[in-house]
Amino acid sequence: MLHPARTHRIDSELFDRFGLTVSMLRLDEMHPEIGGNKWFKIKYNIAEAKRNKANGIVTFGGAFSNHIAATAAAGRLFGIPTVGIIRGEESASQNPTLIDAAANGMHIHFVSREEYSRRYDDDFLNEIQRKFDGYFMLPEGGNNLNGLRGAIEIVSKIAVPFDVLTTAVGTGSTLAGMSFGLHSHQEVIGFSVLKGADDLEKQIDEKISAFQFSGMQGSRFSPGRWTLNHEFHFGGYAKRTDELLIFTEQFYFAHGVQLDYVYTAKMMFGLSELAARGYFTPGTRIVAVHTGGLQGNRGFSS
Ligand SMILES: *Cc1c(COP(=O)(O)O)cnc(C)c1O
Repeated sequence: MLHPARTHRIDSELFDRFGLTVSMLRLDEMHPEIGGNKWFKIKYNIAEAKRNKANGIVTFGGAFSNHIAATAAAGRLFGIPTVGIIRGEESASQNPTLIDAAANGMHIHFVSREEYSRRYDDDFLNEIQRKFDGYFMLPEGGNNLNGLRGAIEIVSKIAVPFDVLTTAVGTGSTLAGMSFGLHSHQEVIGFSVLKGADDLEKQIDEKISAFQFSGMQGSRFSPGRWTLNHEFHFGGYAKRTDELLIFTEQFYFAHGVQLDYVYTAKMMFGLSELAARGYFTPGTRIVAVHTGGLQGNRGFSS
């Protein structure tokens, strides 16, 4: 059902000039609909929902959310009913992400932006739970301890030796999970796609501690070194400049790899820029994680 994730070289004059070996882990190729990091973040949530004999899974997302797309597809593949609580108005139901989610059997439930902002509040969650009785509640983006546990496995898919991993960061749970898969000489650099995410380091630290206390599988290892870079958000979440658009097109032309504008394009731009500044010691072996998200490009006008 899922294809193995390839790791392949990214040959470029820039990386050669600075003595860097750069490869890419292609999580995007694992499945046309549930590929990418979102699969790793939801897999143990699906397992828990199944174990608890939940009536289904209810989760949260924006109208072009990769998480909504992946959860809907996984729900169909694993025979679990899904409900998506979607931020915004009913008119968005005509967008390709939600049309596909509905075709995968997801029940789409729209809430106003104001209601959506309460998605972590107990009273709002209780209201949703009453409406969808016996459903497993999966937070937005698969951002919980099961999500962290799944993200550790991303590292084990890498088929080449490496010193540095790079990944795009939204909530940071993928980064936090991956840090538990590192050896002591390795590190992961996250590129934040959010503007003004000043407390993201603190939130990631909290996730890492909570996971260590959970006693879940993989949590007894100590987390590896991680850092966040905040320079390459291009104006903020789902914002795109001409410079990013041109970079993405040139990257596809040079390497035959499609990137998504919300996450992976910003990560690869940031990695290239750090390389060009001489940030990495010559000889450094880098693996950039392609976390998927290509379906989200349908939210941008060409
Ligand atoms: C959600 C997502 C991320 C960010 O994952 P977090 O765990 O929230 O940091 C990165 N890349 C893609 C393609 C995503 O869909």
